[in-house]
Amino acid sequence: MYEIIDGKRISQEIKDEVKQETAELAGKGIKPCLAVILVGNDPASQVYVGNKKKACEYCGFDSISVEMPEETSEAELLEKIKELNEDDSVNGILVQLPLPKHINEDLVIESINPAKDVDGFHPVSVGNLLIGRPGFLSCTPAGIIELLKRSDVEIAGKECVVIGRSNIVGKPMSVLMLRENATVTICHSRTKDLKEVCKRADILIVAIGKPKMITKEYVKDGAVVIDVGIHRMEDKKLCGDVDFDDVAPICSKITPVPGGVGPMTIAMLMKNCLLGTKRQNEV
Ligand code: NAD
Repeated sequence: MYEIIDGKRISQEIKDEVKQETAELAGKGIKPCLAVILVGNDPASQVYVGNKKKACEYCGFDSISVEMPEETSEAELLEKIKELNEDDSVNGILVQLPLPKHINEDLVIESINPAKDVDGFHPVSVGNLLIGRPGFLSCTPAGIIELLKRSDVEIAGKECVVIGRSNIVGKPMSVLMLRENATVTICHSRTKDLKEVCKRADILIVAIGKPKMITKEYVKDGAVVIDVGIHRMEDKKLCGDVDFDDVAPICSKITPVPGGVGPMTIAMLMKNCLLGTKRQNEV
């Protein structure tokens, strides 16, 4: 019988820990503040930004929402980031992606002060991750490590296969699993014999962006399966990259969609913002 890895419960646990620590910091006159910049009117981005604001309120953080119109120029956005970089009352800066096409995302990410890079996307954060120095970890992969650890999944020495090599999920995920001493294989769109490679995995982490692509033919009996994908189907229901009903019966543990990896991302963002605040105040 498989066990569900409950991301809703674990993310709540993390937010409560952050809230508790924030209350303790308040005694020292310190209150974390997250600035979130949204450019344009993308409805999904508006929902994400709203959720981040709610999480800030829950944890006891201040939050600043900077809403800029679709036609904002790259220079105007960079100027806004510079202002927030220099504002000592702001501890974390997040620019909601994707940005309108006329703005260079890489340039924008690079313009954030790495000490306030709570998304962990700045090249300095990515470099620190790679060489094992302290820094901000990208939220979704860091959340998956928390899911595994808090569900008592042993990582050291296990065969881990990560499907996907994006900069925000696949690559940082594989480095984090390596850091936890797993033997890591990264698969992508050009991998040959994907099924065979995946079948070796004790821990299979799926971030492909294709609804229900992973069926039981890709999964070893007793594997732990983490589904990063999130898709809204025609019937309005959400599903992941894994065909849950097909795969779950042969797993030992599996994340559902929704309620698995999804809720962890914001919880880890809160954790990063608290960490940044502590570092900036040297406490
Ligand atoms: P992406 O499109 O940037 O990357 C997908 C990766 O999958 C690529 O590296 C590609 O090589 C690989 N791939 C594509 N087709 C493949 C195939 N047929 N066989 C093997 N590999 C293949 O996507 P992403 O940003 O990494 O996101 C992946 C999924 O995770 C999406 O569904 C996204 O919505 C979701 N996501 C969820 C969260 C969350 O908080 N839960 C966060 C980020 C992304």
